Amino acid sequence: MRRKNSGRSPVVDLPLETASQRKAKEDKLPSVESGRLKLYEPGAANVKKFLDLLAARITRPLVASMTACVHCGLCADACHYAMARPDDPTMTPVYKADQIRRIFKRHMDWTGRIAPWWVHARRPVDDADLNRLKNIVFGMCSGCRRCTLNCPMGVDTAALIRFARGLLTEIGVVPEGVFNVSRDEWETGNQMAVTEEDYLDTLDWMKQELASELGVEVEIAVDREDCDFMYSINPREIKFDPRSIAQAAKIFHFAGEKWTLPRWGWDQTNFGLFSGDEALGGYVARNLYDAAVRLKAKRIVISECGHGYRSTRWEGYNWAGYDQNLPSESVIVTLKRYLETGRIRVDRTRNPEPVTFHDSCNLARSGDLTEEPRWVLERVCSDFREMHPNRTENFCCTGGGGLLSMAEYRPLRMEAAKIKAEQLKATGAKLVCTICHNCVDGLTDVIKHYKLDMRVVQILELVEKALVLP
Ligand code: SF4
Ligand code: SF4
Repeated sequence: MRRKNSGRSPVVDLPLETASQRKAKEDKLPSVESGRLKLYEPGAANVKKFLDLLAARITRPLVASMTACVHCGLCADACHYAMARPDDPTMTPVYKADQIRRIFKRHMDWTGRIAPWWVHARRPVDDADLNRLKNIVFGMCSGCRRCTLNCPMGVDTAALIRFARGLLTEIGVVPEGVFNVSRDEWETGNQMAVTEEDYLDTLDWMKQELASELGVEVEIAVDREDCDFMYSINPREIKFDPRSIAQAAKIFHFAGEKWTLPRWGWDQTNFGLFSGDEALGGYVARNLYDAAVRLKAKRIVISECGHGYRSTRWEGYNWAGYDQNLPSESVIVTLKRYLETGRIRVDRTRNPEPVTFHDSCNLARSGDLTEEPRWVLERVCSDFREMHPNRTENFCCTGGGGLLSMAEYRPLRMEAAKIKAEQLKATGAKLVCTICHNCVDGLTDVIKHYKLDMRVVQILELVEKALVLP
């Protein structure tokens, strides 16, 4: 695919350099020897750290993705950024990955060391270069992995983007939002800095709400040992949407479940997935696994969250260096089991509005959870209709990859959201259901920006509404 450069900047605040500007800058550099190679200017401490980290952390799968690209351009048709700006080559996945690939070639690959001009190898030379790379890897990609699944050569562009994010995070060249959320997660154990007092108060408040609604006491136990499962949640549920905890508690109660929340280690979300900081990823995941072991829980149930599911069920064990000996599942799987075994009964006529389903990237493409939510939705809604494309080919809500925390990239995100808006509108549904709290906010932004006549719901809400009480 050939694309014409529109001349627009790929990011809001940094113009692209011309080739001659770039050459002039490189020619002025007093390079120094580092081992056998001339690498960086004296004093460019961040560049040195970046290149050292790159060499230390590169892995075989990353090298494969660095080298396997044949520049066919097919991935351009998979990326919502490139689709929203079809005349701008800087939006294509291959362009974004090439900004990392050319550094790898210059620094590590023999062709790029010997003949950099031949393979377009180029090193960063100063903080402005690192900042430009930051704006590309954080601001122009939601890490949705749609390009990854659509690459005929198996190039994992999203993994390269995350790798570069991790290097930049380590040297502190990060968007302010990423820095703030990471700090909060390190300091408080959860990414919204919820204090233990607020956490316990909110759980107590939900207990009182349920008691007044149902006339019976519904337990929301904390740190109860020997439970069937330990429930882990997204801090957004405590801070902005505690209804989802009450809905889950009500369903668990009528299913006769013995469950608990932990006092510490309850955050199943993990900003390490977005920032590429695996030390943070390991810290958060370890808190959660340790809590389940301490409480002797038989399994971990993960509430509705895409990146939380991917981090807790799949990636976290590697980051934390933890044996994967604790069964875990999404709450959607738990709900499906209740319905299959008759532990709860539902009436689908209580959800009469047309509902469509948004597959979250981290659940569908990276988590293989596509059929269970549909199975549940077909039983709790009268008019379920598919969005197209769907399952592993669905488009991102546009808020993935931590982009909701990076306000500076919002205008570009909303421009790229055109694809999602068209997809939502074509369903004619009044409700779009997602099983991810992050997608709730991403989709709500899209609906508002493109003035769509629909609202976002989650599966616990629909199941709770359809629940037939004994
Ligand atoms: S990443 Fe894959 S699809 Fe994209 S240009 Fe390279 S080989 Fe082609
Ligand atoms: S991961 Fe998603 S947003 Fe990022 S380049 Fe690939 S398709 Fe585009």
